Amino acid sequence: MSANDAVAGRLETISQMLDLLGEDSFRASAHARAARLIEGLSTDVSQMSRDELLAIKGIGAKMADKIIEFVNTGSIEEEQELRAKVPAGLLTMLTIPGLGPKTVRAIWTTLNITDLPALEAAIADGRLLTLPRMGEKAVEKIRQGIEFAKQGNQRLWLGRAFEVASRVVAHVRHLPGVAQVMPAGSLRRGKETVGDLDVLVAMKHGHDANAPTVMDAFRTMPGVVAVLAAGDSKSSVRMEINHDLARWGAKKKEDQEHAAETPAPAAGPSIQVDMRVLPLDCWGAALMYFTGSKEHNVRLRERALSMGLTLSEWGLFPNDDHDTPPHQRGVKPVAAATEEDVYHALGLAWIPPEAREDRGEIERSELGTVKVGSDAKARARTGGTPVPPADSGKIATTPWALIELGDIKAELHAHTTASDGSLSIVELATEAKSRGFHTIAVTDHSQSSTIANGLRPDRLRRHIDAIREAASQLKGITLLAGSEVDILADGSLDYDDDLLAELDVIVASPHAALTQDGPTATNRLLKAIEHPLVNILGHPTGRLINRRKGLEPDMAALFAAASACGVALEINAHWMRLDLRDTHVRGALDAGCLIAIDCDVHEKADYDNLAFGVMTGRRGWLTPARCVNTWAPAKLHAWLKRGRD
Ligand SMILES: [Zn+2]
Ligand SMILES: [Zn+2]
Repeated sequence: MSANDAVAGRLETISQMLDLLGEDSFRASAHARAARLIEGLSTDVSQMSRDELLAIKGIGAKMADKIIEFVNTGSIEEEQELRAKVPAGLLTMLTIPGLGPKTVRAIWTTLNITDLPALEAAIADGRLLTLPRMGEKAVEKIRQGIEFAKQGNQRLWLGRAFEVASRVVAHVRHLPGVAQVMPAGSLRRGKETVGDLDVLVAMKHGHDANAPTVMDAFRTMPGVVAVLAAGDSKSSVRMEINHDLARWGAKKKEDQEHAAETPAPAAGPSIQVDMRVLPLDCWGAALMYFTGSKEHNVRLRERALSMGLTLSEWGLFPNDDHDTPPHQRGVKPVAAATEEDVYHALGLAWIPPEAREDRGEIERSELGTVKVGSDAKARARTGGTPVPPADSGKIATTPWALIELGDIKAELHAHTTASDGSLSIVELATEAKSRGFHTIAVTDHSQSSTIANGLRPDRLRRHIDAIREAASQLKGITLLAGSEVDILADGSLDYDDDLLAELDVIVASPHAALTQDGPTATNRLLKAIEHPLVNILGHPTGRLINRRKGLEPDMAALFAAASACGVALEINAHWMRLDLRDTHVRGALDAGCLIAIDCDVHEKADYDNLAFGVMTGRRGWLTPARCVNTWAPAKLHAWLKRGRD
């Protein structure tokens, strides 16, 4: 965790405790604001002088002193004083969706409840209902929030786990003797949440003696909060995670629809990370074994057995039914060094990790198994064209040409300071350009999203003018004027058609009424898809991973309509959303839909979430051709003109 995150975390906690104590709300919000400012700094706060801190708008003298105190001593005296007054359980209660500081304070001062078990008891026996302004609906929401937080305790968001894995890889990659470092498991498969992290290391030939040094470096690296196992070839630690929940961690007013989006450390303060050192000679087999999924690996082992082979993390061996495993008897493997070798020896094309879920990927890979130069079927598949001679037995074609990060050339869903983003129009576009994009669409929130500072029609008109003006100045990138228009509860859009027709891009998204029943949600979203000006259905279900279930519409009906209308369905790339989810992507593609992968940019760092959106697309077998963000400018811009002539 960086110094900035650490300072921000302390200030946020102080702010929460001030709120819980019912102190001056101005002081509380000043701390929360300072936390967000520090978090958003690109300079390391521990390297900044007092004057430099004071130069930041929103940081006063007292705040600067507290920051310096923390940098110098690792704690803030005021925080310790507040902690003595505020029972720790109250801070845990604040992590429950639907519970803000005012409510927790009321629960504490009125019912004398200071921890979650007591709160659950008060829900069960009806005492919570006796609080002022606490109706049955609100109590039910809190009860569900507690349930949700409990489930979420098991697994960490992909984006947060990815950060930890990246830190570990960076820490050991350049140590002497290290040949390979790779996170395996569900992280490598791009699953939306991750349980434990598995990081694999292979030493260069002749460097096995360095393995204990690598293990030692891992166990003592920054962020390790506990060592669970310490061996020369395997170690386990618990590693600190970043608790910043991006825009869902910011302080929000209570009793609003979005009150469910309060901060929560869904996996507790740390995640278990296992590191194993493996022989380089069996790297491929080990990587496959530890990447999983279990179901995929079972299918591979069955396949091996049916071919008279046996597969383990040590390699693919002839199956001689011996009691001692072949690698312990010095048997030479058929394949082991690379994943490609092992898959090919099993008669399969290499399968991308994201597709290894036993959802038909093995059958699909058989289709691609074409033995070069030796197979009549191969010539049949290439329409009789002779296959070029090559190494015998090598795979000539791959059935997996899935989308890759570098294929994305346009961002079609982004917010500026006009609504709830932190970048200006020009900053947004400049960042998009620096990432190699040819198109960026500004899509600020519409008027009903009051909590996100949505634009009333007159403001939107002026905003469109500002975007057009900026577009005329910018070179090397196309800047489009759009809107993320709320799909209201009844399916109508949040601006009238005349105004919508002035926009280049319309992302229609559900934000409120996310608990309505399935059939109502289906009709609502269908109405938006069928609107002739809508280009993209944004985060179609509105779910937040580990936080909120979102809508449960008839997805097949949505896919059919989107396919017929030429509306793209969004994979919102934020790791908290990943909505569409992987299985929906697959269904949408089968139905003939187009997909948009968008970062829903609110700040610069959100562009980095693109990787998670792409992984989710790959889990749904998405190819570049079906993703509008990969299209060349002319094709994309023509598609966006839909319904506008
Ligand atoms: Zn949205
Ligand atoms: Zn958005």
